[in-house]
Amino acid sequence: MSDGTNTTMTRRELLQAVGTMAAVSVATPLVQLAVGEGGALSAQALPLNAIAGVDRVVMNHGKTYLNGWVGYGEPPRRGRGGRGAPATPPAEPPGPPPSVAWSKVSGPGTVTFADATAVVTTATFSTPGTYVLQATADNGQTKAASALSVTVELPPPAAQLTPVVTKRHTITSPLWAARTKALITSWIPHCVAQINRDDLVQGPGGIDNFLEAAKALRGEPHGRHKGYVFSNAWVHQTVEAMSLALMVDPRGDKEIVAAQDRMRATLEDWIPKILAAQHPDGYLQTAFTLRDPQRWPDRWTAQGRGNHEGYTAGYFIESAINHYTMTDHKDARLYNAAKKLADCWADHIGPPPKQEWFDGHQEMEQALVRFGHFVNEQEGGGRGDAYIALARFLLDCRRDGIQFDQSHFPSSQQYEAVGHAVRAAYQYSAMGDVALETGDIDYQSAVRSLWLNMVHKKVYVTGGIGSGQTFEGFGPEYALPNDSYCESCSSCGAFFFHAKMNRIYQDAQYADVLEETLYNALLGSTDLAATRFYYDNPLAADVPRYQWHRVPCCVGNIPRTILMLPTWMYAKGADGLYVNLFVGSTVSVQDVVGTDVEVVQQTEYPWDGKVAITVNPAASREFSIRIRVPNRGVSEIYTALPAVNGITSLAVNGSAVPPVIEHGYVVLTRTWRMGDRIELEVPLRVQRVHADARVEADRGRVALKYGPLIYNIEQEDQDIGKALAVGSPLTTEWREDFLGGVMVIRGTFADGSPLVAIPNYARYNRVEGTFAPTRREGPRQPTSVVWIREA
Ligand SMILES: [Zn+2]
Repeated sequence: MSDGTNTTMTRRELLQAVGTMAAVSVATPLVQLAVGEGGALSAQALPLNAIAGVDRVVMNHGKTYLNGWVGYGEPPRRGRGGRGAPATPPAEPPGPPPSVAWSKVSGPGTVTFADATAVVTTATFSTPGTYVLQATADNGQTKAASALSVTVELPPPAAQLTPVVTKRHTITSPLWAARTKALITSWIPHCVAQINRDDLVQGPGGIDNFLEAAKALRGEPHGRHKGYVFSNAWVHQTVEAMSLALMVDPRGDKEIVAAQDRMRATLEDWIPKILAAQHPDGYLQTAFTLRDPQRWPDRWTAQGRGNHEGYTAGYFIESAINHYTMTDHKDARLYNAAKKLADCWADHIGPPPKQEWFDGHQEMEQALVRFGHFVNEQEGGGRGDAYIALARFLLDCRRDGIQFDQSHFPSSQQYEAVGHAVRAAYQYSAMGDVALETGDIDYQSAVRSLWLNMVHKKVYVTGGIGSGQTFEGFGPEYALPNDSYCESCSSCGAFFFHAKMNRIYQDAQYADVLEETLYNALLGSTDLAATRFYYDNPLAADVPRYQWHRVPCCVGNIPRTILMLPTWMYAKGADGLYVNLFVGSTVSVQDVVGTDVEVVQQTEYPWDGKVAITVNPAASREFSIRIRVPNRGVSEIYTALPAVNGITSLAVNGSAVPPVIEHGYVVLTRTWRMGDRIELEVPLRVQRVHADARVEADRGRVALKYGPLIYNIEQEDQDIGKALAVGSPLTTEWREDFLGGVMVIRGTFADGSPLVAIPNYARYNRVEGTFAPTRREGPRQPTSVVWIREA
């Protein structure tokens, strides 16, 4: 999240912004930019340069879009608004511009270029396999060349998985019951209290904005808008989080029951206030209603892309889905208002005679697809189709812009994860929706390429994304410094993207990464007591979490994402049920090949690998249950040893079953009857993780892992600058009374002193006091780190 227009920046952000300007091209040119005396660019010395682009995947019978560049020095980079805009480019040498020629270097079949002499063109391929293409620049005197690889793959299956909508459910496993309770009884009430305040100095703008906007709509005297243009976002997210929290079975816990009662009262208080700020035609954003018309003349303008109109609208629409579901479709106030808002957008934005537009911050796109499906389910008749079409149109409108908001190329021609990490992840998640909905081959090629680029070149071992080397965004491939940015919202976005890819490909590897992101990037974004949160989640942590932030975009996103556990745990296919996560719980899944199925998981995972799944179909029926077999080594950046994959045992109703594994799932097909019980064991062992040598920050370092959990060492327990001896023994110990109950990893540093590691999600829970992120001055010494020196 970022405001895009105003406010003082922290030192870290300033450094990030400078990094945006100074970062070299993400592609690796064969000829480096010449730098003269004193660092000044020398126009005469500018070498001829060619940039082909990044490696990518294309679906068989599809085409890849070659957005290459040739010229002298580095390609012009369009920065982010005023900040980061490039200086006047150096003069180019006189004479005719260089020519370009595309050619095939290697590959199993023939390559056909639409125009092999155009720097921007397309290529098609005769047969699947991996090809290397080259762009050669020639000015008559010298040549420069740049290559990229294109892997031609078979497209994903035509039928895709359907998401499981989160409804009333029960969470029983110790870790998840505790996390869920903390969010319900502590974190969400804290957000509600903050949003109800009208005296916040940092991160203001809650319900008060809706009250003032309603006055303005009624023509009454009113106050000014508070906070950022996007400050409605955390109100809507908190409405969604409360709606989800009200679908969690309190299991008789008085504190949860009391918190839920207060949430019902809050919703009754807030909903009329929010709806009173909705314009008669459905438009809703208080920053617009209370704007200065001189500075913000109209809705949906090219100059107004920084106003987060879609970002706030999208969160409102998403909140309506869970609220309507939570009330068993009895309270349609938010649902109807969301339709009115979506209709207002669909009436104005679209192919001619409507207008083209896109928001600088994605969110409306994935919200519209989710809502379109939901409306179709509720009302049928294709009532929601227009929303899904609008989502695609908004994505298709992105072009001729900047990497920061992923408008540098048309969406369907993007293959590299770049720019602001939250925007990127939300964009890719929405592109996954379009690939799912339409089967569009360009979108399929793009999302697969983007996922591979992100997961194999740019992801942290925690699953977090965004190194912060561009403003709150991605850096070059393998550039993963441990003072990482990894905003909690970008973890949510990556999480949504993994879920979409799992539904497209029906392959467990996407859920493997989803699980790692959940347990490591997302779960530790609040403290164990759920009184504070992290905006950014560096792997070398140097400050405690904070109670609020001047940009509180993550505060509601964290609980609304985590509390949708049933949606992340399960998915439905044409022939049965997919089990993606192991969480002790009771979840009812509607319409699994025609019958509702209650699924009861009993497990203490990730502390214990034994999982029992009781299947209770309403009617006995033959279908398949696919259970994810965890793979702890999906990202090629990281190698975890010893290899701990597969499952140790599998039985149905007490009889051992030989596992049949397809696409990372063990498949059990039979006539399922009420009470059928599956038992399996997932192996859990301590692993040492090493990063690819190209990750400079992790060279000579090791990370520790147990099951899906990445571990930290903290200064409270040891001198974290010490080195762990290669190959020294590591053991686990269950500590019931420590950090809410955790498995600690014990070992010995090279000097013989003891090492204690705790799960990354439980980091920084023993430091008293809080931290005001606005007062940050200069880098501090990390006191909790993932990557340990190794000797
Ligand atoms: Zn955020």
